Amino acid sequence: MIIAIDGPAASGKGTLGKRLAAHYGYRHLDTGVIYRAVAKAMLDLGADLADEARAVSVAMELDPEKFGHPALKSQAVGDAASVISAIPRVREVLVSFQRQFAADPPGAVLDGRDIGTVICPDADVKIFVVADPQIRARRRTLEARARGEDADEAQVLADILRRDERDRNRAAAPLKAAPDAHLLDNSHLDIESGVRAAIDIVEAVRAGRQRV
Ligand code: C5P
Repeated sequence: MIIAIDGPAASGKGTLGKRLAAHYGYRHLDTGVIYRAVAKAMLDLGADLADEARAVSVAMELDPEKFGHPALKSQAVGDAASVISAIPRVREVLVSFQRQFAADPPGAVLDGRDIGTVICPDADVKIFVVADPQIRARRRTLEARARGEDADEAQVLADILRRDERDRNRAAAPLKAAPDAHLLDNSHLDIESGVRAAIDIVEAVRAGRQRV
């Protein structure tokens, strides 16, 4: 089974996908880290983020072993990721890695922006996670402070709004819900309740399928 989790509610999403995968014994890929890894490599090289040829060659040489690097979580890297991820050729290079990950047994949970629409349009279950931007800003600020980063909530909110806008309006694989996605609004859910709600969606889809 392939479960696709998309939506703008980025930081909560990674945790949700991980927990859902653990519940079903599946593998989990937070695809945001792939774009973040390309962005960080570009920043480390001092490269211009608009340099397509450079970004494509960085994307081709990505090392998945480095996807756990803590520096990938910073706001600055996330913002740069949103810039390089709008480059169609960068996205193309990264498609096969994601599809292969999804296809390997026993099953997988992938989360990102275009999993249900572009990467795995035939995913068994698609969940589109949203949350009030103000609440996401609050959560992100607390997470950043817990990592020891300085974070100003108003600035975090402005970054979130700018990034969502860019992700939604880009030509290549824009952020949008697949027509068959189930909406999950976790504005007022803590992590446990969000995971429970996602499991309920998966189980309802499975039960519906068995009845047919
Ligand atoms: O989810 P996360 O905040 O880690 O993603 C960082 C950025 O990477 C997003 O703002 C988005 O621009 C890009 N991204 C994407 N497609 C994905 C996952 C992330 O374009 N599947």
